[in-house]
Formats: sequence, C-alpha cells, structure tokens
Amino acid sequence: MNQTPLELMEGLYCFPDACNVYVLRRGDCALAIDFGSGQWMDRLPAIGVKRLEHVILTHHHADQCAGLEGRDDWPFAIHAPNGERPFLSPEGIEAIRKRRLAANPFPPSYSLLDRGLTNVQYDLGPGSRELFWGPTRVRFIATPGHGPNALSAILDWQGKQIVFCGDAAHAGATVWRPYCLEWHHSHADGPLAAWEGVRNLASIAIDLLCPSHGPVVADHPRKMLAELAKKLMNLYEAKGNICPGEPDRYIPVETITPQIKKVLPSLYQYGMNGYLLLSKSGEGLVVDPQRNAHQWLEDLLDRLGRPRVTAAIASHYHCDHTDGFLLLKERGGARICLHPWLGEVLEDRRRYDLIWPPDIDVHADEILPERGEWRWNEYVFQVAPFPGQTRWHAAYQTTIDGQKVFFGGDSFQPCSRWNGTGGFCSINDSRFRDGYVSSAQLVLDWKPDLLCNGHGTVFRFRPSQFRKIQKWALKAEKAVLDLCPTGDLEKDYYIHHPGAPAPHPSRRDNKG
Ligand SMILES: [Zn+2]
Ligand SMILES: [Zn+2]
Repeated sequence: MNQTPLELMEGLYCFPDACNVYVLRRGDCALAIDFGSGQWMDRLPAIGVKRLEHVILTHHHADQCAGLEGRDDWPFAIHAPNGERPFLSPEGIEAIRKRRLAANPFPPSYSLLDRGLTNVQYDLGPGSRELFWGPTRVRFIATPGHGPNALSAILDWQGKQIVFCGDAAHAGATVWRPYCLEWHHSHADGPLAAWEGVRNLASIAIDLLCPSHGPVVADHPRKMLAELAKKLMNLYEAKGNICPGEPDRYIPVETITPQIKKVLPSLYQYGMNGYLLLSKSGEGLVVDPQRNAHQWLEDLLDRLGRPRVTAAIASHYHCDHTDGFLLLKERGGARICLHPWLGEVLEDRRRYDLIWPPDIDVHADEILPERGEWRWNEYVFQVAPFPGQTRWHAAYQTTIDGQKVFFGGDSFQPCSRWNGTGGFCSINDSRFRDGYVSSAQLVLDWKPDLLCNGHGTVFRFRPSQFRKIQKWALKAEKAVLDLCPTGDLEKDYYIHHPGAPAPHPSRRDNKG
C-alpha cells in the first residue's frame, strides 16, 4: 500500500490501497471516492493537493473506509449513500453484531467496520441526491450488490464522462467477492438487484470505468458491463429452480393433528422438521429434533402410549434441525448420535463462523460411521455425507414398513417448495460438483422409495428429478465461476471457512 498514484487523466488519480481510492484535484483542493486505509493521504502534497474537501463512499464495506474509523473531526466532509446508516454508524453496527452473537442468522453484511463512523452525511442517492463540488456535479445510480445501498458515482472531467462503480463491476465482466451478492441463502434478490444496477449502468455513456478493485476499464466499458449483466442474470437463473418441470410427488400422509402426520405405520412427522421412527422394541428414534417442536413430539408420544425415545440423529447442523437434541437427552435419556461431519461443528459451534448453529454446543454420545452402516434396533441405516445446502450435511436410509426411506434434510425439496432446494450460498459452503452433484448421485444410487426431507416434505423418488439437479448444479457452478475475477472459486467465492476440511468424501478419505 501507499504506492505511487496512477495519474489516469489530468487531475484524476488512482491510489491503490485496501480498495482503489480515486482522487480528483482541482487547483490545490481534492475530492476522493472511497477512502481505504487513508495512508494515501500522505501522498497528497506530492500531487499538489493541500486540502481534501470531500470523501464519497460508494458503499459501507470495511475495505472502502476502515481508515476513517477512530476519529470524528476529519477536516473534510464524508458522504455515504442514503440507507447505509445501519451498516456504517456505531449504533447500527452494534445492533447487527448483537443479533449475530445471539443467533448467527444470515449476515446482513459480509464486511462491517469494527466500530463504525460518526459525522457521516447520508446524503447521496439516485435522482436529485447529487453532490456539487464547485462546478462538478456528481450524479449517482443505484448499483446494489455489495450491499443493498451501493451507488456508482458519475461525473464529467476534462470533457469525459467518468463512472466510479464501487464493487458493482470488476474488469473482465466479473465481480469482486461475488458472494457479496448473496443476501439470503435461498432468495435471488441480490443477483437480481445487481443485474438491474449493472444493466442501468451499461446504458449510460462511459469514457472511463473506475472500479473499487482491479484495473480501470477504458476499452468499451459498456460492452463489458453488458456482458456482466448477462452473467448476473445467469446467477439469478441458477438461484431459481433446480429441477424445473418435475412434479412434486408428495405422498399422502394421515393428519393426526395439524402438527402431527402419520407417514407410515412406524413413521411420524411432527412440527416443522422432526420425524419419529418406532421400533418393535417399543423404542423411538428422532430425526432432526427441533426445540420449538418438542411439545408436538410430547403430544405424539402421549398418543402412542409413551414409547421411550432412545436415540436421535440429524441431517445437518442448522439449529432448526438440532437444537432439540439436549431436551431429548435431558428429559428422556436419548443418545445423541452424530455423523462425524456434524459432530465437527456441533461439538464446538463457534469453530467456524457458521450461520444458524444451535445456541448451545451438542456433544455426541455416539459418532456414526462417516460412510457405512449403523444399526438401531431392527433398523439398519445406510449413512453417508450429503453436502448441498451446507457442507455439514449427512443422509440416512433404512427400510421402514417395507419401504426404503431416505432422510435427507434440506438440500432437496419437491419442485414447488423453494425452487426444489434449501438454496446454495458461499457462507453455507454449498458445493456444486462436490456437493449437489455427488449428493444427487447418492440418491440415484440408493434408489429410495420415498424421501422424508426437511420441513415436512415427504415425496416419492424419481431418477429424473435428481438427474436434472445434477445438470443444474454444473450450470450453477459455471454461473458463479464466470463472475470470479481470478477464475478460481476457492479464492473468490469460498473464503468464509478457511481451515475447514475438503468437502468431497474421496478427498477426505485421502487425507486419512
Ligand atoms: Zn465491497
Ligand atoms: Zn437447513
């Protein structure tokens, strides 16, 4: 950092910093777009600047403005997009941090400052929220993506129309840290908003496009933006249905109460995610215990003459599938039986920065085979890793009342439920080839009669659904990869869980 600035045009400089900081000089005064670490300010006298008058932030990410923290008497005005206050102000950041500490929900931002900024004017926006710097009129277009409020700034300089697009675009028709477009694990609002912004940007005249990372684009920037808009639309499509045209194939279940369904004589579904399997021994096994559903399980056990729940397993670590384990153990003495991949995060839920872990660590009484067989009473379960919605996911299959029943959690749903999936995203470490493709293959190999998946979805298996999913996964992987500036998913997309083991079963086996 603190390198010599590039003079892009007379009076327009780019300082490579935590992000590119663009400085416009008029006389001995200056305006900066984004701030980075602020170390570049030492170089201002060398380019003839005595007074920095304005700093414009394109969005709230820490790499744009961390150097502004810790001081509230800067001798220049700091302007940010209207709407960024919850992400930039100390109160806003504190509120987000408290929510994350309490439950670790999907993060509202991937890059927050530590403490936040005071004395920011949230006065920039599309339309008439312009900034006048002497004769220079700075206009703004909404280019969401790196957060919902990100803006691109447009101004005239030396007879040219210059656009500072923040992280809305990166050279090569890519996006810096494309996971920032994932605002939710299953909704596609981020990619759609990003597409709309880039499409709008592509329709204005641009002589020089100045992104926050990577080189400036002077060669046909509009063409590059149009290509990027297509790629963003591909990502939006990939976030759509994973098995289009497939019937849902729900099987009829008997409603005992609104919260209790009888699936088979020995299998019940209760609450949102739970299943209760009954053994001839008079014992019960729970799949995906959720604390909020425990009352419905108690109701079901009462109706069945109080069979004793002696074991519980889970499809994946998300709290709505695991936070009932301890109640089962404490109240009924159930053994907690964890797949090793789940044990890896549930035994220390703060080990990785994961979303939606249960609010308490869960210790296994028994670790299941990573891949193999496991017996509970008369039931022999096939057990295997099942990465998809999240890497830390497992699947189980056993024969119940003459039917091969697959317990598969959240990755695969009937076509009309959430686009056929619980969604993919980087922060869940969802994998394509080593996840959706291999897990769909597992279902194809095991050929269940019915799937008892998360959120009460009980449906019949047909190979066509899972073959479509495999095709979709390869397309989805390409859609993400096409947006990566380095062409490497690990460097640009999967950066949330460094140190976590490789997801593919064979790679893990090789590691020993
Ligand atoms: Zn950013
Ligand atoms: Zn889930």
